[in-house]
Amino acid sequence: MTAPAPPGCPVATACPYCGVGCGVLATPDGFGGAAIKGDPDHPANFGRLCSKGSALGETIDLEGRLLEPRINGAPAPWDDAISLVADRFRAAIAEHGPDSVAFYVSGQLLTEDYYAANKLMKGFIGTANIDTNSRLCMASTVVGHKRAFGADTVPGTYEDLEEADCVVLVGSNLAWCHPVLFQRLAAAKTARPGMKVVNIDPRRTATSALADLSLRLAPGSDVALFNYLLNQIEAEGAVDASFVEAHVTGFPEAMAEARRATLKRTAEITGLSPVEIEAFAQLWLRRERVVTVFSQGVNQSSAGVDKVNAILNCHLATGRIGRPGMGPFSVTGQPNAMGGREVGGLATTLACHLDLTVPEHREGVRTFWNAPAMPQGNGLKAVDLFRASADGRIKALWIMSTNPAVSLPEADDVAAAIAACPFVVVSDIIADTDTTRLADVLLPATGWGEKSGTVTNSERRISRQRPFLPAPGQARPDWRIIADVGAAMGWPEAFAWESEAAVFREHAALSGVASSLGGDFDISGLKHLGDAEYDALDPVQWPVPHHGEPGGRLFGEGGFATPDGRARMLPLVHRAPATPLSPEWPFRLNTGRVRDHWHTMTRTAKSARLSAHMAEPYLEIHPDDAAAAGIEPATLVSVESPFATAVLRAIVTDRTPRGSVFAPMHWTAITAARGRIDALVGAETDPLSGQPESKAQPVRLSPFRPAWYGFALSRRAPLPTTAYWAEARGPAHWRVELAGTAQPADWVAFARTLFDLPGTVEAVSVIDSARPVARIAFVVDGRTEALLLTSDAPVEAARAPLAEAFDAGAEARPMLSGRPAGNRPDPGPIVCSCHGIGANTIAAAIAAEGLSTVEAIGAALGAGTACGSCRPEIATLLQAFQPEIAAE
Ligand code: SF4
Repeated sequence: MTAPAPPGCPVATACPYCGVGCGVLATPDGFGGAAIKGDPDHPANFGRLCSKGSALGETIDLEGRLLEPRINGAPAPWDDAISLVADRFRAAIAEHGPDSVAFYVSGQLLTEDYYAANKLMKGFIGTANIDTNSRLCMASTVVGHKRAFGADTVPGTYEDLEEADCVVLVGSNLAWCHPVLFQRLAAAKTARPGMKVVNIDPRRTATSALADLSLRLAPGSDVALFNYLLNQIEAEGAVDASFVEAHVTGFPEAMAEARRATLKRTAEITGLSPVEIEAFAQLWLRRERVVTVFSQGVNQSSAGVDKVNAILNCHLATGRIGRPGMGPFSVTGQPNAMGGREVGGLATTLACHLDLTVPEHREGVRTFWNAPAMPQGNGLKAVDLFRASADGRIKALWIMSTNPAVSLPEADDVAAAIAACPFVVVSDIIADTDTTRLADVLLPATGWGEKSGTVTNSERRISRQRPFLPAPGQARPDWRIIADVGAAMGWPEAFAWESEAAVFREHAALSGVASSLGGDFDISGLKHLGDAEYDALDPVQWPVPHHGEPGGRLFGEGGFATPDGRARMLPLVHRAPATPLSPEWPFRLNTGRVRDHWHTMTRTAKSARLSAHMAEPYLEIHPDDAAAAGIEPATLVSVESPFATAVLRAIVTDRTPRGSVFAPMHWTAITAARGRIDALVGAETDPLSGQPESKAQPVRLSPFRPAWYGFALSRRAPLPTTAYWAEARGPAHWRVELAGTAQPADWVAFARTLFDLPGTVEAVSVIDSARPVARIAFVVDGRTEALLLTSDAPVEAARAPLAEAFDAGAEARPMLSGRPAGNRPDPGPIVCSCHGIGANTIAAAIAAEGLSTVEAIGAALGAGTACGSCRPEIATLLQAFQPEIAAE
């Protein structure tokens, strides 16, 4: 196996967060840390990193790590844990059959891990009950690609975004969710101002700042919009007849449906004006080089697959695919969503883009694996898998590298389903998550910086993740854990890999078999890599049928992976979100990500600067809706669906349209009292892909009126138990937002319990007995150890200066005022995480100095000059000032 690097030697690896797949140079310091910078030679990012990637070095300490196997909470030797897992899975299979067991895996796994898990489940245990959290992310695109192209293939490359004359972003807040790709696009637009960007999203997001045209369409109306575009493609003579004739079927049927999409009808469905719709169509039609980028706003829908195919229809009709600067382009959420798709990580796919339901594919893989027990059909998709666990059909469940008790829709029911399963194994790097709390057996896996293998990014580029730290404690690579269980279950020869390189070689060799069966995923040119060559493998785009002749664009000359080699256009009909609004449930809840956190924050919450950007769970609500509901800015709001209730901080903004609200999905029971957003989301799914509709849940809102609000700082982890709390890490403190439904009888005693401080610690307090106003500081050796400020309204403390003073050891009494630095201005919400610069500071500089460009603000304040992830937000702040600047 690849050994970790010696201290001081930079190691080229890949970022473990989003699907851009940036290259990282990590230089270990010899003490468990590492200096991080972008890899200038990696073709995904050419040295850039976003805020999350830049902060990777702050997330690799061992705090909270799972470092030894545990059985029923007690440390256990590896051999005992492996034997127990193998015995319980074998027993369940013997008594109830192979479909009584399941794996739920993750786009965080490396391709080698993913391959091993799929081989064990689909080839040896004999069931397809292995699904992945990519079901929540990309499943609609997988099915859409397969329907149109015959295979799950992204045709283009990142250069296409830079070479396009028009880039259309659909359901994609690229600025926050794929920041480096957004930066590449922004740089290209700066270099070629004639390039047009269209942003199609119900919300106004950071991405909107780059757009020449923003279409804030009604949630779920994308098919209607792209049907109209297809209609206009034909009406304005933009069909590429020779491409369609040579390479496409289904054109007449698709057009027959698209011709029904009149401008009037499209405007009614999308809520857009005819002028906006026409402007979009003209931008698309007048430029041949068009790339349509799409992401979760398309995928996470009960009509997700049709949305994907509506986009693909337009590119196929015009032949704008697989050529420089043009094509449909799905961007994946996770670092290895694509690698997972390549190994058949979904319950509905087989290795190397083959299909379980095709007998020749099954037989080809079975022969290659010498597999004793291939399933005859697809397994349970994620939502169904946990329903099967809830109703007792699943007797043994292994969850790898993911946190479904938070991230799946109807998450409370999912947590109950996991708890109900007779035997649950969780392999993870973190000891305490909402999901590990439900496990019978915990298996410690190696994490980023320790593990070795490959990942594939959104443009089909395979990169090495290389280790630069030793495996801590008893942690092992996932592929090794899976192989050990496979061997213990009775198949030692099939899982006898001596290294991750050996797993990769087998995967590459199988892709050659798949290619001979008509599959497009072929990396057989890499099947003879020696261990040293594998260690040194440069980023390479597939297909790689011959070593040294990699990748590039696909489908420009046809050659689709269908039996007749032709792509399929499909007749598509608009369908509204599955659950309609009603007087009882009048708002659509849209969910998504914030810029600086990742998934359920098990890693990013360790970084103080990442936590500074958005420190608590929140709800964006339009000012008109907030006023009608009696919700004031910065107060708390109760968000209720038929499945659960959350309590969130209200951000009143017209970024979100009337009738719709937005909440991020990162907060868990570990980081907030009632911020688990996916508990609110119903498990409606796309009928073809099984992907949940995570952006259209009907909810209702009401003010959450606590008896008091609080803000606290503490040097040790606090123990909040109030009706509302949310905690975040600072450089040398924990920060907690609080609210309680009853005023404590003794504020000081309450604060001691909150901060877990004994009665011997000195308290300095100012308490208003008539109102819930308390100001309490605890002092140890002259230094403020903890601070609590409460009020009958949201606490008006300047949080950043207060936290700064707290970390600097300021005296207690000035801190009780909430303004320890006197009249020093409050920087406001953090915009630039790298330099800790807030919105108030930037706004003041714009107003005082007449700054009018992002560059000018960077020169004046430094904001936006490091990783650059905040530049779209700075641009948005500038736009807010434009009328004033123009008037001067
Ligand atoms: Fe990582 Fe950011 Fe690059 Fe995504 S854009 S891979 S999160 S550095």
